Amino acid sequence: MAELAIAVDLGGTNIRAALVDDGGTIRHLVSRPTQGQEGPEAVLDRVAALVGEVVAHEQPGPEVEVGVVAPGTVDPNEGVVYYGPNIRDWHDVHLRDILAGSLNRTVLIGNDANAAALGEARFGSGKQVRNLIYIGLGTGVGGGVISGGELISGKRGFGGELGHVTIDPSGPRCTCGGIGCVEAYASGWAIVRDGELLVQSLRSDMLARMAKSGPVTPRMVSQAAEAGDPAAIAIYDRAARALAAGLGGLVNIFNPEVIVIGGGVAKAGNLIFKPLREALPSYTMPSIYDGVTIRESSLEAHTGIYGAAALVFHAREHQPGRH
Ligand SMILES: [Zn+2]
Repeated sequence: MAELAIAVDLGGTNIRAALVDDGGTIRHLVSRPTQGQEGPEAVLDRVAALVGEVVAHEQPGPEVEVGVVAPGTVDPNEGVVYYGPNIRDWHDVHLRDILAGSLNRTVLIGNDANAAALGEARFGSGKQVRNLIYIGLGTGVGGGVISGGELISGKRGFGGELGHVTIDPSGPRCTCGGIGCVEAYASGWAIVRDGELLVQSLRSDMLARMAKSGPVTPRMVSQAAEAGDPAAIAIYDRAARALAAGLGGLVNIFNPEVIVIGGGVAKAGNLIFKPLREALPSYTMPSIYDGVTIRESSLEAHTGIYGAAALVFHAREHQPGRH
């Protein structure tokens, strides 16, 4: 019989829940707006209601655990979200124990990007790979390192912040308070910042025309680049080079087999992937770079759900006495 996990993706915009089997089949996926402005209690009630719907429909046994992924500073050992974006008063929330109480099931929690690395290694572009780096280029940049089949996240589980590696000590200020992080070049917000600068400085007629219909988006910059606008292409080149420099350091440290790139910014395809592949060897030691493949995430729309399921399966395998 297939192994099962109940997976919850607690995002800033939507909460999604589903039953997932170890073959990667998603059953009865349900979704509802997070409505984070209503605060933790209302959000946790919605999570419980969605899990309730999945359980009522799929009838998993009471031993099937719930995996929950959320953005922000998540302590998987203590089961606490110390801080997360987009939900009012969402700090020091004892997410694991509160949900375990209301659901009457074992609950595991994790940072969404860390869990996404586990998800890619189990279900996605890094399937069967024991040494993998995942980086998600969304509005921000998150990631995770799998080394020898284990997620590397440090003492309190806060590690693996691959977007916040400084690649230029005199670079732009980052959202984390740091300077010159990968995120300050290769994230959605950084591309928007650079695109707005092009419009204001009259360096891209094409982007200026597009921006008449609304605020600059990463998609607008990628469309301008695809249409051959050199200034827009340069934004993606710079993002890719920053990413290559950040990843280069990680490749030298962790000697991965596969690097998986996900997130909305990765949808720009070869605008990112081509310069990234070209630049990466410049930032790695040849012996370590040899054999590294860069792949696009194959889980995209379901990255959160697969990450949450992977948390459960991973924990189960590492506590064999539990079954
Ligand atoms: Zn940063």
